[in-house]
Amino acid sequence: MSETPQVERSTEAAPAVDELTPPDRTLMGPGPSDVHPRVLRAMSTPLVGHLDPSFIEIMDEVQDLLRYTFRTDNQWTIPVSGTGSASMEAAIGNLVEPGDTMLVPTNGYFGGRMRSMAERAGGEVVTVDAPWGEPLDPVDVEHAFDEHQPDVFGFVHAETSTGVLQPNVPELTDIAHAHDAYVIADSVTSFGGVELRVDEWDIDVAYSGPQKCISCPPGASPLTLNDRAMDKVLDREEPPKSWYLDLSLLEGYWGDERSYHHTAPITNVYALREALRLVAEEGIEARWERHNEVAGELKAGLQDLGLEMNAADEYWLPSLNAVRVPDGVDDAAVIDHLLAEYDIEIASGLGDLAGDIWRIGCMGHSARPKNVEYVLAALEDALAAQGYEA
Ligand SMILES: *Cc1c(COP(=O)(O)O)cnc(C)c1O
Repeated sequence: MSETPQVERSTEAAPAVDELTPPDRTLMGPGPSDVHPRVLRAMSTPLVGHLDPSFIEIMDEVQDLLRYTFRTDNQWTIPVSGTGSASMEAAIGNLVEPGDTMLVPTNGYFGGRMRSMAERAGGEVVTVDAPWGEPLDPVDVEHAFDEHQPDVFGFVHAETSTGVLQPNVPELTDIAHAHDAYVIADSVTSFGGVELRVDEWDIDVAYSGPQKCISCPPGASPLTLNDRAMDKVLDREEPPKSWYLDLSLLEGYWGDERSYHHTAPITNVYALREALRLVAEEGIEARWERHNEVAGELKAGLQDLGLEMNAADEYWLPSLNAVRVPDGVDDAAVIDHLLAEYDIEIASGLGDLAGDIWRIGCMGHSARPKNVEYVLAALEDALAAQGYEA
């Protein structure tokens, strides 16, 4: 019989915890991405109150910058307190009413999360299918509409789990609107990095997260709704299940009134403002082009190493490069090697693609030629350590 070691535990002595010194990583995974020094500086500026006149002005500026980046004139454009999943749940939990039917995709991890949220909101869920690694086909979406007549259609513009960019967005929104449905676009990994035009493409609701293509720490997440969608939200017969994310209440704070609902995450709003200022300085279209070019170099370099992209060229997602793990190579060992030897973070596959792909992000401040060169050289070394010859 072995003896259980006795650990001395006391609540009286203060825990001896060292000063915070996180490792200096290069973040090339599915998010967070490297934060721009200007954003970090903005986060160390003093707090003001969330109802301070100076903060009210900051809120207006953030809303304008969000509209610019979403390419929308929507009045209802706000940062939701929380990560991307909070803006996602605000979108789905407010728009989907009990008894509504929501159509969701099955071609990636985040369509599954849409399903869970719609079910919790009391919705019936129906699906439109495509394999993981392929986009939705508008023909299948049309069939799903004819068969199920959904009230709300959700799709993932940039599927971070598969590296697939959904093309033909205006075609999808046309189908939905011809059936009087509302469209929710998950633009978490496209916002600020890949062409996204909320108004021109007739998207009713779009949500995002700050820690992907705009390289801002997680904590305040972009959301926009057009008037048509907001009318549905304000006409609900019963309030949404979440008090915290109830947009009819948040309207009091982010709308004209500016009255207390909950304390805004002030520091995260500062950070978002600075990250979006960087977007505006660069110019949104130039920023899309940079992602395309820099990620294009990454993709070419990966192919030079003899690796194969998971998504076909027509729907390759610049901000998230899903690469197939070659036969005989241990995917986790390569990820560990990059982290231990080079301080580089990349990620493994999720769900149907677990063990089959690596996910290499190229987002925001991480989307720089020097990062691409670095990750390619490190990857070549990690593969060689596994006996793989480029
Ligand atoms: C990251 C991500 C989310 C969730 O965002 P969190 O900030 O992790 O809550 C949702 N959808 C997509 C496509 C994502 O990549």
